[in-house]
Amino acid sequence: MIRHTFRQVARALSHGQRCLSDTSGGGVIQSEPSCSADLIKQASLYVHWPYCLRRCSYCNFNKYITRENKDDIMTQCLQRETETLLRLSDVTCISSVFFGGGTPSLAHPSIIAAVLDTVSKQVHIPQTAEITLEVNPTPEGMSKLEDFCHAGVNRFSIGVQSLQNEDLKILGRDHNWQQALQTIKQAISLCPGRVSVDVMFGRPKQTVESWENELSELLKVCDHHVSLYQLTLERGTQLFKQVQQGELSLPADDVTSEMYQCARRMLQQNGFLQYEVSNFARHNAVSHHNLSYWRGRQYIGVGPGAHGRFVLQGEGGVTREARTQTLEPDVWMCEVQQRGHGTRRRIQLGHLELLEEVLVMGMRMTEGIHHKHWELFSPDLGLMEIFGTSTEVQEFLQSGKLILDERGLRCTFDGLALLDSMLPALLVELEGQISPRLKRDHHAGGETKRRLPSQDDT
Ligand code: SF4
Repeated sequence: MIRHTFRQVARALSHGQRCLSDTSGGGVIQSEPSCSADLIKQASLYVHWPYCLRRCSYCNFNKYITRENKDDIMTQCLQRETETLLRLSDVTCISSVFFGGGTPSLAHPSIIAAVLDTVSKQVHIPQTAEITLEVNPTPEGMSKLEDFCHAGVNRFSIGVQSLQNEDLKILGRDHNWQQALQTIKQAISLCPGRVSVDVMFGRPKQTVESWENELSELLKVCDHHVSLYQLTLERGTQLFKQVQQGELSLPADDVTSEMYQCARRMLQQNGFLQYEVSNFARHNAVSHHNLSYWRGRQYIGVGPGAHGRFVLQGEGGVTREARTQTLEPDVWMCEVQQRGHGTRRRIQLGHLELLEEVLVMGMRMTEGIHHKHWELFSPDLGLMEIFGTSTEVQEFLQSGKLILDERGLRCTFDGLALLDSMLPALLVELEGQISPRLKRDHHAGGETKRRLPSQDDT
């Protein structure tokens, strides 16, 4: 059973956050950059807004509760860090922007406009670029939707989570289901076809039947994109404590597996195509921003705790530097004011680490990894050479969980739900094939992984 949300898998890979497509053949056709130079020029931008009004009981994201208004300084710092990181990269085009959090719908729309203005002064943002903002469906969030659109946002991702008020209370959410429905309606009227809803399953006391009913209600009102997340217990959260103390319990694994499968069926019956473990779209309303992560593209992360992966200016190639920004907002703001950015950690990704990311992220998509896509990162060793002779991979192929053919490597419908159990074997195989070559290259004076200084001017 897939337990990892995108954010969790991304975190496991040391990410912090979270193209035109065609749906023929049951998958989204990849629109690939034709060479690695194209990969360096284009990136997506993630902007982290760290504040929330209160703590949801299950949440361990990087968020802070504050009553102080720090809008001015926050705006300046987000702009400054955006400028700095863009300047350090070779990026000339930002293909998508995602304002995540925290609760970015708490930000004043002028802050969103200011960040987008900074980007467009420095690099090209195509008119068609997807600009998403996460919204908490509270009256405040809803009242600002139109102004967010004026600021440049053209897609909303709404954190509905549940349509049961009792469950929303247990989750510590600051909205009710009526407000969620109103917000969805308002968002659709402003951005028709570009509204996504997040909904969570595996919640305390939830049954397969109640989940089915809830989902069918949601399907009556939602737009063309749904993200499904399984609730996972995170240490240090209120919910974790409640479960430890026996006040609440989560459904058993077989029940959550059934919930996932039932949601996949229902979404499919309603015209939604699954294009990733947790994501479903109809009329091709896929999230281009998230697709860029899963396709191993560059991304720049600004704001407290944001993560990025990009090639430094003049370095060439496809191997990126992984950057993590300082978590705590006040410390981050001081650092940005002093040196233009709040990068806390820089690591030059090695070739194997880059391929691991491309593999883990790519396998989450129903389209999997195309040979041409893999070759952009691994020109010398193809998917067939790496996985074609592996005994374990052969077992996955024969049991109908994986497909390796002239198109590339991907999970079957059944296999996608079991991806977590297959990834370790795929990663071992990858390492077994790549490491000896890297050792040979190293002895011959080739690439090595570099840990870079964190407190410097770049
Ligand atoms: S609104 Fe989102 S980031 Fe904030 S506490 Fe709730 S789940 Fe966490």
